[in-house]
Amino acid sequence: MEKARHQPSLPGALVALAIRAAHGYAAPMRRSLVVLDPAQLPTTTAVDPTDDHFHDECGVFAIYGHSESANLAYLGLHALQHRGQESAGIVTSDGQQLYAHRAMGLVQDAFSQAQLAKLPGRLAIGHVRYSTAGGSHLKNAQPFAINYARGSLAVAHNGNLTNAEQLRQNLEERGSIFQSSSDTEVLLHLVAMSKEVAFEDRVAEALNQVEGAWSIVFMNEGTLLAARDPMGIRPLCLGVLPGTKDAHVIASEPTSFDLIGAEYMRDVEPGEMLIIDSTGVRSVRPFKPAPRRACVFEHVYFARPDAHLGGRSVYEVRKSLGRRLAAEHPVDADVVIPVPDSGVPSALGYALERGIPFELGLIRSHYVGRTFIEPQQSIRHFGVRLKLNPVEGVLRGKRVVVIDDSIVRGTTSRKIVKMIRDAGAREVHLRISSPPTQWPCYYGIDTPTRRELIASSHTTEEIARYVTADTLGYLSLDGMLTSVAGENGDAKGFCHACFSGEYPIAFDGMNRAERSSYSIKTAE
Ligand code: SF4
Repeated sequence: MEKARHQPSLPGALVALAIRAAHGYAAPMRRSLVVLDPAQLPTTTAVDPTDDHFHDECGVFAIYGHSESANLAYLGLHALQHRGQESAGIVTSDGQQLYAHRAMGLVQDAFSQAQLAKLPGRLAIGHVRYSTAGGSHLKNAQPFAINYARGSLAVAHNGNLTNAEQLRQNLEERGSIFQSSSDTEVLLHLVAMSKEVAFEDRVAEALNQVEGAWSIVFMNEGTLLAARDPMGIRPLCLGVLPGTKDAHVIASEPTSFDLIGAEYMRDVEPGEMLIIDSTGVRSVRPFKPAPRRACVFEHVYFARPDAHLGGRSVYEVRKSLGRRLAAEHPVDADVVIPVPDSGVPSALGYALERGIPFELGLIRSHYVGRTFIEPQQSIRHFGVRLKLNPVEGVLRGKRVVVIDDSIVRGTTSRKIVKMIRDAGAREVHLRISSPPTQWPCYYGIDTPTRRELIASSHTTEEIARYVTADTLGYLSLDGMLTSVAGENGDAKGFCHACFSGEYPIAFDGMNRAERSSYSIKTAE
């Protein structure tokens, strides 16, 4: 199911920013951290009441060794906008001190040309964040940046620390004061309190105390660190800007490299930390090894289809998910249509495998932001209609297979099926390119509670009746894992807890409110 992927076109003036030479910065005040005028900016944003999907919570970007670091970070974050639309931030360093700017909203709204010009230096980290309604506030926007006894420090994190609550309690008992409700802030305290001397050793010591998922970048005045948790749950990759001596980039997805002309070099390996400074790039492995468990949902839905993850094209993977889905749940039909945009490659695969024509039976509006009104009964399909509209000529009188990537609560699927029927379809067969989503994610994806997930308490037949589809078919767990892994890949190397309940990292605080209603299975 397509989440609200806000990908507005780049304003021309901001594209120009990327190629403008950085000149004429005013001499900084003698502070080691400069925070740009946050008081002038809104501190909260609304969330979309019609959105019924799992959400990636963050995207991170970093660059070392380029005089346009802030501008390139801006563009890199723009390419990661689908991973978070609530807030955006960039911290830069001119070698002497850090400069920070964070704001609510989309990247293009969070930064003006003037603000980018006040972020000097050759080193930058950036972050886009999605959050739930309660956590949608500027104080939780990243990167976090602080001054401490040894200078300045900033961090941008994608993932979720499963023992953050306990660590935070311990730190608070020892006198630490927290400014946000984010688990990431715990890491800043741990780094600041470390007895190690070298920056990378302080960070490694801090990361060795946390559990969960972290694809993360740290910076001080002169060094960039990029690290990925030992299971490699969230993605992170390394690139280089050609024609520059030492300009390296780090990002959640390599699609952000394309926009700035950087070349993808490789994924940051699970359990690896890269140290990038004036001496080049060094790789260390200071963390206890663990079996690889990359998030399979990145391949199914979160990542952009033009990305490569784990060496595989996301687009091709999604096509093979569709082919496998067709083999597992064939149906006689006249046309295969996707729920755009994320269902498109899987629908293509399904259509190719079954030899049924592929058509665009639903058109998505790319100019819809978030809807701030509560629809009344008389216009109750308003929210979905804003985003999708049926093509009657494709659907009228036809037996339609509609392909989507997941069903969360079922409310949006029900509206889509009704929309297709209202446009004249004779039969509507819903096919889902992943297994039923039955469990919440604790590793950096925003999910509803277990009891809100329709598949946690209903059979496929019951869900089919609820969404009013003639038939419903989900891809099997084995089918999804083997399709994502590919012929020579390791189908065991993925986290699939939201489908199977087999959590690779179990922890005491696992949604205490719901613990009585289900038991946690732990993967081997
Ligand atoms: S629980 Fe699901 S969404 Fe979360 S990391 Fe695992 S596969 Fe990804």
